Amino acid sequence: MAMIKCRICGKKVSSKVSRCPKCGAALKLSIPGMIFLIFIIVFVIGIVVVAILDKV
Ligand SMILES: [Zn+2]
Repeated sequence: MAMIKCRICGKKVSSKVSRCPKCGAALKLSIPGMIFLIFIIVFVIGIVVVAILDKV
């Protein structure tokens, strides 16, 4: 069982839990993480669209 460190309080918690038992902070994909992921997807789609429009 892997132990990860909470970003907020520094407590070592199991990597299986999604929230820190001490402070309640989300340990897995956070909202900023999701925004970053969406940004990457939009960026990749943008490149593909530009590539298609360039050929026409
Ligand atoms: Zn914590």
